Amino acid sequence: MTAQIIDGKAVAARMTAEIASDSAALQQATGIVPQLVAVLVGDDPASAVYVRNKQRACERAGLKSTLHRLPMETTEAQLLDLVMQLNSDSAVHGILVQLPLPKQSREQVSLDAVVPHKDVDCFHPHNVGLLVQGRPRFLPCTPAGCQRLLAEYKIETAGAHAVVLGRSEIVGKPMAMLLVQRGAVADATVTICHSRTRELASIVRQADILIAAVGQRRFVTADMVKPGAVVIDVGINRDGDQLVGDVDFEPVSQVASAITPVPGGVGPMTIATLLRNTLTAAQLSAGK
Ligand code: NDP
Repeated sequence: MTAQIIDGKAVAARMTAEIASDSAALQQATGIVPQLVAVLVGDDPASAVYVRNKQRACERAGLKSTLHRLPMETTEAQLLDLVMQLNSDSAVHGILVQLPLPKQSREQVSLDAVVPHKDVDCFHPHNVGLLVQGRPRFLPCTPAGCQRLLAEYKIETAGAHAVVLGRSEIVGKPMAMLLVQRGAVADATVTICHSRTRELASIVRQADILIAAVGQRRFVTADMVKPGAVVIDVGINRDGDQLVGDVDFEPVSQVASAITPVPGGVGPMTIATLLRNTLTAAQLSAGK
């Protein structure tokens, strides 16, 4: 079997076009231009690339994007002060505090400082709570991007065994939470695995749908995948000059029925969902 390639780049481009059209409609009806503000502290090169990609995507979707670049020595109090200003600026709809932060700023405190209705990363406990209860305000960007790929490729999730590899707050936990909800592109039987899981390979082998988010390059090998499984690879890992996922792509694509590549799979979907959340925030601010 050679797996169908799940083309995240193409789906994200379609999503961006939808967002551009919805954003233009909002602007015409209300005069509001959705604005995403990114806060970048320090000079981590990978973070700078992520933020630049998000800004470019905003431009493609007709959203306004603003970057606040703060020096490495910025104190937590200074960072919180900026977040408070952005919280109360009615022209700002989404606030994104790029991680990692320098060690003097506590990440949890800084993320929690973003008001829930501008928390377009869906990290705030209020938004996570709404998600758990199945009535989300915003969608967690990477997990919702994965879910949209399953929808676009008409992968049956109801009753399927979905195994999520990884339990981070950003990917693993919210991914499991989306798939276990009642409703479309959900209703799955979900297992979460992590570094303390026993017999991990045998659990992974039971997956009809496997979501890999461990941050270990080529962690999932072909012998861990059930023939015909759908494999979504969230991982972004460096291997020399190359970016590789958490899945050993070539051999696994001989066993799986469908698979996301890295790059060009989940990554663009994460950004597209962030834009969708920013538009949602702007629509909510206009009472829509
Ligand atoms: P974290 O490091 O926060 O979490 C990794 C998870 O994998 C943890 O739950 C950890 O378990 C588990 N894990 C690590 N090693 C093993 C192992 N050997 N066996 C079993 N479980 C293990 O990473 P993230 O969730 O933030 O990211 C995961 C990957 O996805 C990374 O490569 C990251 O770069 C990428 N990523 C990609 C995005 C995209 O848009 N495509 C967005 C966000 C992340 P434990 O909890 O026990 O430590």
